[in-house]
Amino acid sequence: MGGCSLEGTKANWPRGILQARCGIIVRSALFLELRCEALKIMAQSSAGSRLIPLNMRFAIFGDIHANLEALEAVLADARSFDVTHFACLGDVVGYNANPSECVELVRQLGCPVVKGNHDEQASEDTDLSTFNSLAAKAIQWTRDNLSEVDKQWLRDLKFSRIVRDFTVTHATLDTPAAWGYVLSALEAAASFNYQNTQVCFYGHTHVPVGYVKNGVMVEEIDASHVAIETGKKYFLNVGSVGQPRDGDPRASYAIYSPSEKVVVWRRVEYPIERVQQKIRDAGLPERLALRLGMGK
Ligand code: ZN
Repeated sequence: MGGCSLEGTKANWPRGILQARCGIIVRSALFLELRCEALKIMAQSSAGSRLIPLNMRFAIFGDIHANLEALEAVLADARSFDVTHFACLGDVVGYNANPSECVELVRQLGCPVVKGNHDEQASEDTDLSTFNSLAAKAIQWTRDNLSEVDKQWLRDLKFSRIVRDFTVTHATLDTPAAWGYVLSALEAAASFNYQNTQVCFYGHTHVPVGYVKNGVMVEEIDASHVAIETGKKYFLNVGSVGQPRDGDPRASYAIYSPSEKVVVWRRVEYPIERVQQKIRDAGLPERLALRLGMGK
């Protein structure tokens, strides 16, 4: 890396990025090496991507589900990596006990937000008889604990949006209002047909994972870190802030740098017991408290 003009600067990236860009693991000086590599890639990149400010860094997060402690932990973690912007993938409410507080905190960020199915259910007056009794009880509790202003804000959210050089959606891009689940390369392929940006972030399954389209091939990739390569498209699930379901109870989100063309997934600890106690105090179903501890 000799000769890199960024030598000696503090890049402050998670260590996964170095592996993504260089394919090697070096414990010391990893941030410096990342920056050097990113500089080389930027020099080769198209004129369009050079228009994106070098220091722009997004925290992409969603499926908060009224878990205030997890949301606060994620925002603090993101800020520790010099994140400059945020984008929210929806399901701000539902399941946990702080819906209004989470709406307020996300609204204060002033960032792009898309609508999730729980945001839709909580802000409408639809009949709940088709839901199982646990789900119906949790939805009704959320409706009872949101103000009309909160509900209107949730109602006004769009299903998908383009933000700078990427897209955000809660469930799918092919039929976003149908709330289908993308759990396979085949299901990701349907969304790729409607993806007009190189990268799209989504949520809904609460399981972090990525899909890459190269020509007609779509394949699954690990949700740890990915270097965005020219000619390929990426459909990336950032996992869930407030109710992870991949067996890891820590809050999940991702950091994306448009100029460095890198996405890194992050897992963040938060005080789960405090959230479980709030669920019990609110009279919400016990299963909602238990699943947080298991990450299921
Ligand atoms: Zn969700």
